[in-house]
Amino acid sequence: MRKLAFCFCLFFGFIGVSRARVAAQQYDLVIEGGRTIDPETGLDAVRNIGIREGKIARISSEKLNGVRIIHANGLVVAPGFIDLHQHGQDPASERVKALDGVTTALELEIGVPEVAQFLKAKEGQSLINYGTSASYVAARAAALGAPLPAGTIFPKSGPATNQPATREEIEAIEERLREELDAGGLAVGMGIQYTPGATRLEVIDMFRLAAQRGLPVYTHVRSAGRVEPGSSIEAVSEVIGAAAITGAALHIVHINSSCLRDSLECLSMVAGARARGLDVTTEAYPYVPGITPINSALFNPGWQEKLGISYGDLVLPDTGEHLTKERFEELHNSSTTRWVLVYANTQEIVDQVIPNPLVMIASDGVEGHPRNAGTYSRVLAEYVREKGTLTLRDAIRKMTLMPAEMLERSTPAARYKGRLQEGCDADIVAFDAATIHDRATFQKPMEPSEGVEYLLVGGTVVVDEGKLAPGVFPGRALLGPGTSGSGVAK
Ligand SMILES: [Zn+2]
Repeated sequence: MRKLAFCFCLFFGFIGVSRARVAAQQYDLVIEGGRTIDPETGLDAVRNIGIREGKIARISSEKLNGVRIIHANGLVVAPGFIDLHQHGQDPASERVKALDGVTTALELEIGVPEVAQFLKAKEGQSLINYGTSASYVAARAAALGAPLPAGTIFPKSGPATNQPATREEIEAIEERLREELDAGGLAVGMGIQYTPGATRLEVIDMFRLAAQRGLPVYTHVRSAGRVEPGSSIEAVSEVIGAAAITGAALHIVHINSSCLRDSLECLSMVAGARARGLDVTTEAYPYVPGITPINSALFNPGWQEKLGISYGDLVLPDTGEHLTKERFEELHNSSTTRWVLVYANTQEIVDQVIPNPLVMIASDGVEGHPRNAGTYSRVLAEYVREKGTLTLRDAIRKMTLMPAEMLERSTPAARYKGRLQEGCDADIVAFDAATIHDRATFQKPMEPSEGVEYLLVGGTVVVDEGKLAPGVFPGRALLGPGTSGSGVAK
């Protein structure tokens, strides 16, 4: 698969070269003199990159001529980062993602409730590339008579999340998911912990549906913690079992926050499944607390015992208020969704998870948590530069090639992403590896990162000399095979 992808980019690269000769080697844009890193071929050398019509047309140590020359001396030039797990799809989130080096940000964990509506709203309006899974959570909420309110993707805890679905309701969920995949969904997104009433058979049925379409399942697993039944280990076993039974590819989101103190055990389970030939992948974000809606089923009775925490470990992000029993009950029972930071993990575990070779970087980005704005710069600053537990090349691989390869299960368009090769899409980041750092904090979660000097999306300059370029919206949709088959919006 990897070899094929490599050949695809090269094939178009040759077209680029011949076109370039006809046009006297003039490119739309040249990125000159940067340390150019491609995680697939292993290229790590000073190169000049010629860009034409949104593609990387030439990578050369020779001087290239362009309508515009970007001087990248002293900068690392890499494929733009691909975030498989981004809930915030609003313009403010797009801007902080771009300044964090992200050229593609996808809502795959849960998925939006209306794929067609989402794609229409983003078309021509997005700074960076976008896409979504088909939402099992939304389909289930509708089938059980409690459709999600407009603008929300997580259901409030109630009978529709906590009760098993009847056979007729399961069929209605499946019908809805097929429609959403037809509309361009890239995968089935399953937040099983948000629908604890789902039986094991219901979960297997959804994996079967994904397998019939040849698409993966992205999942937030059923449970977290060490209390049995319902441990992280059991929850990861459930989805690996469903993948083995059905043949669907499986991506387990945020293994850091789903497995907590058993994160390394969970990673060994993923490694074991892969060693037995199963298509199982995972990701993590580089922060200790999680964030989630407080009125969701995550806080159904028993959460303190399961997570080993109490009310005071729940913190409102905007005010810093630690909850009490009374305040918790008020917010948990409210129909208004408030997000709450959950302090159930440790820095030590996060530090062990991020460098693990199986772990992709994905932000789980949402307003209110600094991971929305700071994830990628934070990994480069903390793990590559300060702690030295990750090489720059490995960090880039976790942010580019690994998610691109995962996305190839959903769309052939991903073969042209996550790589810096002739013929690939000109989604490119140029950053200063010596200074890049995150600035988002729990008090100011939307402070943009610093150090990304240039960002190109499909050849269009989105970040120019460290600042957002005004009035450009080059982001395009990544689509599942349900629509055009080409996987990219026309
Ligand atoms: Zn999640």
